[in-house]
Amino acid sequence: MCEATAEFGRRRFLLAATAVTVAGALSVADPASAGRVPTRDREVRHAGRPRAGRPVGPFEVTPLLDASGPFFLDRQSAFPEATPGDWELARAVDPDAFGPGQTWQLDFRCYAIRGPRDRLTLVDAGVGPADSPAAAWAPVPGRLPTELGLAGIDPADVDTVVLTHLHEDHFGWSVMPDGTPVFPNARYVVQRREVAALGAGQTARTYVVDPLRATGQLDEADGVARLATVGRGAGGWVGVVPTPGHTPGHQSVIVDGGGRQLIVTGDVLVHAVQLVDPAVGYRFEADPVAARRSREWVLAEARARGAVLATAHLTRPWIGVD
Ligand SMILES: [Zn+2]
Repeated sequence: MCEATAEFGRRRFLLAATAVTVAGALSVADPASAGRVPTRDREVRHAGRPRAGRPVGPFEVTPLLDASGPFFLDRQSAFPEATPGDWELARAVDPDAFGPGQTWQLDFRCYAIRGPRDRLTLVDAGVGPADSPAAAWAPVPGRLPTELGLAGIDPADVDTVVLTHLHEDHFGWSVMPDGTPVFPNARYVVQRREVAALGAGQTARTYVVDPLRATGQLDEADGVARLATVGRGAGGWVGVVPTPGHTPGHQSVIVDGGGRQLIVTGDVLVHAVQLVDPAVGYRFEADPVAARRSREWVLAEARARGAVLATAHLTRPWIGVD
């Protein structure tokens, strides 16, 4: 745990010392995915193809697109502070997020992290089946089960499910509507603070937390935590780090491949407009000040370590921050 402590110390230092600006330094990390392809066509084009992962040292990270569709608010309403200049810069980073008129077109993406000895971690669980709680506003049913199959992943082989936070579009495939865990052999890692912030009758508590507690699969983390190591000297670890603001106990996942790093951001940023200007808040952030601080930290960390960002809602999985 000493590494975790050092990591946390470094985080505090970066928060205090780093100013994040440089909107023009963002880039699409995977040139192959940089083409301007309408979202629906993109899904169709990818249908049936085996899913390929991105190597990060001894790990392989595979994006799994659960769903995509328009947001229920226009983009200016979702990000009231964004200026025309911000939108212009954001369009250059993620053009497919700009639907007709003021529509915000977004993806709902999970990630699988395969480690040595076939250890499997899933980050987030998408919008879920047709009758999941996300059905009220998100494009259900999601296709995560199909995506897992295309990635060669049996749900029974998943060791760990990290829920970055307890919003409907991130826990959808955690459990089925009858309370049965979708990943029978996994522990589900969520920050204790996230669980504590839920009200007694809140959907996330009754739909996800209570069933996972009943089966003994809920694993509440207290801050920074390592999930899997690959052995001393092998170089590499996967860990969670608190990135509060979007929700009280929001967390992100760091994949450290021993020199190469990748950060699965969760909803620290939900649109490219928050990459080009991290001061731009998202309308539904629980604590806008904390959310901005977390965003600035993630971007500073990515720049300091040359890390690639893996986002849930941008319309491409990989974002490089120079
Ligand atoms: Zn989300």
